[in-house]
Amino acid sequence: MAGRMLSKREVAQRLDISIEMATRHGLADGMREEAIVALEQEPPTWLAQSRANRTKGGRAVWATLTCVVCGFTESARPKKWWPEFTYLSCRDHAPQDAPAPAANQHRTEIDGVGSRFVGLVDVTF
Ligand SMILES: [Zn+2]
Repeated sequence: MAGRMLSKREVAQRLDISIEMATRHGLADGMREEAIVALEQEPPTWLAQSRANRTKGGRAVWATLTCVVCGFTESARPKKWWPEFTYLSCRDHAPQDAPAPAANQHRTEIDGVGSRFVGLVDVTF
């Protein structure tokens, strides 16, 4: 049974590497599922190195964004300017659709997270 063909983006997410790195290492045309499993089991030097750097407290290459209202998820490259989000919500939901902040919390909304999210940051004052 031949595995599914994964796109370059899916390969990068699966291996937790950047798309640039996938391209640099000849994975630009994507890979089959079984080829990825083989690569994960016996990582080449560049992949082992990338993973070692990651466990030393490096930032995750991919973050999973999940809408608190409808459950929509998206993988995105985390941005340096992102704070710690309390919730993420799709931009098209009404603000009151998300869980309300506690009475002693102030909510800030941060637009432009991923392709369709608003980041909600609740700070206790
Ligand atoms: Zn949503």
